[in-house]
Amino acid sequence: MSASTTTQTLQERRIVIIGGGIIGCTSAYYLAHHPAFASSEIHVTLLEASTIAAGASGKAGGLVAKWAYPSELTSVSFEEHEKLAEKHNGRERWGWREVMCGEWEGRAGGEEADKEGGKGGTSIRANVRRKAKGSGLPDNLDWIDEGLTEAYEAIAGPGETAQVHPYEFTMEIIKLATQAAGHKLEVIEGAKVISIEKKVLQNGQGERVAGVTYTLRGSHAVHIPADVVLLAAGPWSPTLLPSLPIRTARSHSIVIEPATPVSPYVLFTSITNSNNIAVGQPEIYSRPFNRVYACGPGDDEPIPDLAADVKVSPAAITSLRSNVSSLSAALREGKVEVEQACYLPNGGPIVGNVDAVRGLIVATGHTVWGICNAPGTAKAVSELIMDGSLNKKWKLGKLAPKYFL
Ligand SMILES: Cc1cc2nc3c(=O)[nH]c(=O)nc-3n(C[C@H](O)[C@H](O)[C@H](O)COP(=O)(O)OP(=O)(O)OC[C@H]3O[C@@H](n4cnc5c(N)ncnc54)[C@H](O)[C@@H]3O)c2cc1C
Repeated sequence: MSASTTTQTLQERRIVIIGGGIIGCTSAYYLAHHPAFASSEIHVTLLEASTIAAGASGKAGGLVAKWAYPSELTSVSFEEHEKLAEKHNGRERWGWREVMCGEWEGRAGGEEADKEGGKGGTSIRANVRRKAKGSGLPDNLDWIDEGLTEAYEAIAGPGETAQVHPYEFTMEIIKLATQAAGHKLEVIEGAKVISIEKKVLQNGQGERVAGVTYTLRGSHAVHIPADVVLLAAGPWSPTLLPSLPIRTARSHSIVIEPATPVSPYVLFTSITNSNNIAVGQPEIYSRPFNRVYACGPGDDEPIPDLAADVKVSPAAITSLRSNVSSLSAALREGKVEVEQACYLPNGGPIVGNVDAVRGLIVATGHTVWGICNAPGTAKAVSELIMDGSLNKKWKLGKLAPKYFL
């Protein structure tokens, strides 16, 4: 194939993104903003089985940290988050701001003080490297009772941690992608992909993607041809590429409007009762616009077919609510606005070309850092699609997929 024919083919690519979580939506944004996109005839279709941000991307905490991992993605992602917030007024549009982050250990107050031991350990906490204990709360951490505190230790210094509202970020980023791409980006909600089609290469050496088939709101099947397919279906990705080593766990969360304003802190807590027995380890995030988000431990409830069908366990919500309430009057007397659950995609991140199937790219399994690492992932994906390789000196080698259809 001549160079000019290759260029022509690249310019006319039909790209299908599977999944309207933060990874799929941010990938659409970086594709639409790639320097070569505007002058190309590329057409992108994003297929989302439920609604945009219906999964973890709409229900996560939203921590963005320089100290997140893997460094291959985080080193690019934090800076990209800063640029996106600056360029598009992320402070107002998705609650971008710097936040302090620490580990807190102490006693439950109120009724929780006498409670039986509970289950602990959830997402980010399990991966934070423990440091020696400090003591005393920072002066401006005024929404936790000082009298209950046994130890507080900052996890990172000023300027190293920030946050977004993940649902707002994902919704705004797909809106910005659509504005930039115009008719060259189509977003279809209720479109569940049921298969990725392949064809044998003309020279008989290997395969390439040919298209995907989806059902629209459970009705008839629709086939669309594609030259590139990006699989970004989070914890559902193995349903289309079974050899992906993605595991998942359900996690519950609540959003509270606290009784009094809360300063910007994210806390990884360890709460014990009056008998020194652990009662819970909720992660608690204060958010802009006077809100507090908290999430609890994961469980093994099987994942349903659709994000829209995820069940919420009232017992898990009650336990989370009482753990959080035990820490101060501001939290106890607050109003619970949201009770929800979602599935964490574990086992990756896996980002890169699937060598055995030309045109198939995977970006999934982002564990507890998918909100943080979405921009780096999306930038890499856009370079792989638009330039055919990565421009930057980043090394995604160990994150690349080694799994085939
Ligand atoms: C409780 C909790 C707290 C978290 N806190 C943080 C945090 O503070 N910071 C951080 O960086 N990360 C956090 N995370 C992790 C983060 O939420 C995830 O890594 C990230 O949202 C994954 O995004 P995704 O787009 O890959 O997957 P998802 O958000 O799950 O999106 C996948 C989408 O694909 C769609 N889909 C599935 N199958 C198909 C199909 N066949 N066809 C079409 N569409 C399909 C789904 O409907 C879904 O919308 C947290 C996670 C949890 C559970």
